[in-house]
Amino acid sequence: MIPFLDLHGVNQEFEASFKKEFQQFLDSGYYVLGNQVKTFENDFAKFCNANYCIGVGNGLDALRLILEGYKTLHKINVGDEVLVAANTFIATIIAIKQAGLVPVLVEAEEDTFNFDLKVLESKISAKTKAIMPVHLYGQLAPMKALKVLATKYNLLLIEDAAQAHGAMNEEGKRAGNLGDAAGFSFYPSKNLGALGDGGAVTTNNEALATAIKKLRNYGSSKKYEHEFLGINSRLDEIQAAFLKLKLPSLDKHNRARQAIAKTYLANIKNQKIKLPKYNDSKNHVFHLFVVQVEDRSTFTDYLEANNIGYLIHYPIAPHHQSALPEYQSLSFPVTEKIHKQVISLPMSPVMTEQQVRRVIKVLNEY
Ligand SMILES: *Cc1c(COP(=O)(O)O)cnc(C)c1O
Repeated sequence: MIPFLDLHGVNQEFEASFKKEFQQFLDSGYYVLGNQVKTFENDFAKFCNANYCIGVGNGLDALRLILEGYKTLHKINVGDEVLVAANTFIATIIAIKQAGLVPVLVEAEEDTFNFDLKVLESKISAKTKAIMPVHLYGQLAPMKALKVLATKYNLLLIEDAAQAHGAMNEEGKRAGNLGDAAGFSFYPSKNLGALGDGGAVTTNNEALATAIKKLRNYGSSKKYEHEFLGINSRLDEIQAAFLKLKLPSLDKHNRARQAIAKTYLANIKNQKIKLPKYNDSKNHVFHLFVVQVEDRSTFTDYLEANNIGYLIHYPIAPHHQSALPEYQSLSFPVTEKIHKQVISLPMSPVMTEQQVRRVIKVLNEY
């Protein structure tokens, strides 16, 4: 069996250092918002070349707290509209709704799985205050074009970078430093994953960083003094310690993912399987390698029969989810087609060459 993702394998190279770090953590008796979180925040800010990083409980809260932070700065108000990809993972949309804002779904573009920019501009209204692009599957959203639109219409540009840790544009700028603020998730399966939940916000905006630091901790920076009605969403010390140990290997892991993607792209030759577009740059860190097939159930039966792991990201479009009844009547043909046809192949930095070859062989024989 070739697993879709061997998480135990991914973390194996860190086991000895994790154990050592865990013993120190036990010895310290300090569990929440201490030096480990501070150290990781500094390391991750430096990695993204952003001025500030704030560790939070998970990726959903990272996105939500960015919006809540802008509300305290009166840059956004309850009821304002935020443009978001119709084909994103539902967390992006939930974050906007939890902050009391209105997600306006924007149709996708088939080749990049990202915003259709023409449609995006047509959705900008007097109530629009922000664009929230997602670097879906690990590929940077068209940030340059989005920045032009954001400047033209005076909108905030907030990255959902939960799938794109380390991705870099042609100028060497990384996800997390391509807009006004960015939300990251350290869910175990992400390119930089903790051993549990975790997340972070990066930004160059000092006022926003200061607000989010309070908002993640009951709206307080001084014990028992509460400036805002914040939430409880703190990155755990132990998760920060694990992440600190893994961060120096992130680029190496992303290069391994890119090498596998290149091998897939050069060798999978099958009319029935549509491959993702990739320009061989660092702008895609292949959180997922997503192909498209017309008859997906036949294809998944075939993969199962051949012991090839796979997942579907995602089987149901957000506007068809029961949780979002107000969007049910909308139609997004490209988004719907993507949800019908996508399938994610095995991808991880610890896949062996033999495993990659076997996936290719099985796909070519389909
Ligand atoms: C994982 C993910 C999130 C949410 O992260 P959690 O840590 O699971 O809350 C948000 N957006 C995208 C695109 C994601 O992939």
